Amino acid sequence: MTTPINTNSQHKTSQSLHSPRVIKMHENDNVAIVVNDGGLPAGSVLESGLVLKDKVPQGHKVLLCDLAQGAAIKRYNVCIGYTLKPLSAGSWVHERLIEMPSAVGFENLPIANEKDPGLTPLEGYTFEGYRNKDGSVGTRNILAITTTVQCVAGVVAIAVNRIKSELLPQYPNVDDVIGLEHTYGCGVAIDAPDAIIPIRTLRNISLNPNFGGEVMVVSLGCEKLQPDRLLPPGSFPIQHESTAQDGPQTVCLQSDSHVGFISMIEDIVQTARPHLERLNARKRETIPASELIVGVQCGGSDAFSGVTANPAVGFAADLLVRAGATIMFSENTEVRDGVDQLTKRCANPSIAADVIRELSWYDKYLERGRVDRSANTTPGNKAGGLSNIVEKAMGSIIKSGTTLIQSVLPPGEKLKRDQRGLVFAATPASDFICGTLQLAAGMNLHIFTTGRGTPYGLAECPVIKVATRTDLARRWHDLMDVNAGRIASEGASIEEVGWELFHLMLAVASGKKTYAEQWKLHNALVLFNPAPVT
Ligand code: CA
Repeated sequence: MTTPINTNSQHKTSQSLHSPRVIKMHENDNVAIVVNDGGLPAGSVLESGLVLKDKVPQGHKVLLCDLAQGAAIKRYNVCIGYTLKPLSAGSWVHERLIEMPSAVGFENLPIANEKDPGLTPLEGYTFEGYRNKDGSVGTRNILAITTTVQCVAGVVAIAVNRIKSELLPQYPNVDDVIGLEHTYGCGVAIDAPDAIIPIRTLRNISLNPNFGGEVMVVSLGCEKLQPDRLLPPGSFPIQHESTAQDGPQTVCLQSDSHVGFISMIEDIVQTARPHLERLNARKRETIPASELIVGVQCGGSDAFSGVTANPAVGFAADLLVRAGATIMFSENTEVRDGVDQLTKRCANPSIAADVIRELSWYDKYLERGRVDRSANTTPGNKAGGLSNIVEKAMGSIIKSGTTLIQSVLPPGEKLKRDQRGLVFAATPASDFICGTLQLAAGMNLHIFTTGRGTPYGLAECPVIKVATRTDLARRWHDLMDVNAGRIASEGASIEEVGWELFHLMLAVASGKKTYAEQWKLHNALVLFNPAPVT
C-alpha cells in the first residue's frame, strides 16, 4: 500500500489546516492533489514555495515541476498519462491536458513473485452472529423470498407487505422479509453460454448466509427459468424432511389451485410462516471474526478515494485477513490498468492465470460493445479530480490492502468455506451489479467508499459507507458511517481510521444498524447478464 506523503508538516496546527495544502502519494510523483475545501486560487503559495499558476479545484492535480510535451505524469508512482503540451510547475493538470496510456497487455506480466507481507495473526476478535447449518454465519436474520421471474414481482411485493404487517410482529428475532426481485427469468436466451452468470447469481443469492438457509420460491409457471433450473435438487440446504426430496417450497401463481388474486397472496403468506418460525428460533451467538465475508467496493469516486477512504479500507482489509476472515475486492475496469499489480500479488501462478482469464474475458466483453475500460469514468469522477481510468484504478486497487490474493471468483459464483483471505471477485464496477454479485459470493457485510456521495444500500446485507472527504461527511452526516476525510483534513492516520472501520464492522455484524439500514435505503438487485435477450 502506498502511504500518502503530506507535503505539510506532520505536526499540524488548526492554522496550518487552513493554509494551502496538497497531498502527493509517492516520492516519485510529479503531481499532488489540492486538499483545501473549495480548491485554491491562482497565486496560492504551497509550503514548498511553489506558486499556483491556475485556480485548482479541490481534489485536482497541481504540477510540481516543468514538463515537456509527451512527458509522463506520475501519481501513485505510476504513469497516469502523457502531457499533450508543455506544462510549467504550478499548473492545474486536468483530463484535457492528458493523453491516456494504452492498457497493459496480458503478456510478460510479473507472476506471483511478491512476498507475503507476513502480517501477524489477529486473535480474539469476535462478533455476535447467526450460525447456519452449513457453518456459514449471517450478520442479519432475514426471510428472503426467491423469485424466478420479474412477472411475479408485483404480487410478491404485496405479499411481503402483508407478511411484514401481519406476521413479522409475531417473530421479533427476524430482522426483515424481502422479495428477491430482478428483471431476469424470461424473454432471455437462457441456453446461451453466458446465461449461466445471471442464473447462478440468483441461485447463490438465495443461499446468502443472511437468509439462514430458508429458501422459498415464487414462480409464475410458464417462465424460461423454471424453479428446478434455478435451484436444482441438491443445490440448496435441506430445511426439513418434507422438502428434502422435492426442491424448495414453491408457490406457482399459475397453479390451478389459485382462484383469484387473494388466493395467491394467501398462499405466499402461509408458505412464509414455517420459515419465519424457524428463523425466529435462532439467536445470535459469539462467532470468531474469521467468519466475516466482507465485500468492498467504491462508487462516486473522487481523487481523495485513493488517498483517504480506500487506503483506510485497505488497512482494514489487512486486519480482516489477519483475523482469518474473507475479504473480496472487485470492479474489473478499476483494476484492469493495475493488472500487473494483481498478478504479482497472487499466492501462486494458477491464481494469476485466473486473474488474467477473468480480465481478458472482460476486455472481450467490452470490445463487443466497441468500448474499453475507459468507458468507466463518470462526469462526477472528473469533476472530483480523477482525470482518467488509470488514475481511478490506482486509487481503487488500494482497497485490497497488502496481502497476497488467495483466490479468484468468477461472476455469480459462491465462495467455498475454505476460500479465506483476500479474494478477487471479478465483477463489473457498476455499484448495483458489483453489490449483487458480491451477495451471490456469500458476502455478509459490505463496505462502500464514496467521494462524490451516494445513498447506496442493500436490503440483503448491511452496508457501511465511508466518505473520502470531510466536507461530504459533514453535509451527509446521517448517511456516511465513517469519515475517512479526516486523514486529509485533520491529519488522522490511515491506521487509526482503518481500526475504527474494523471495530465498526464487528459492531454492525453484531446487529448495530448502519445509516442505510436506519433509513431503509436499498438499491435494486441488478444482474450481470452478458447473454442476449430475446
Ligand atoms: Ca462500484
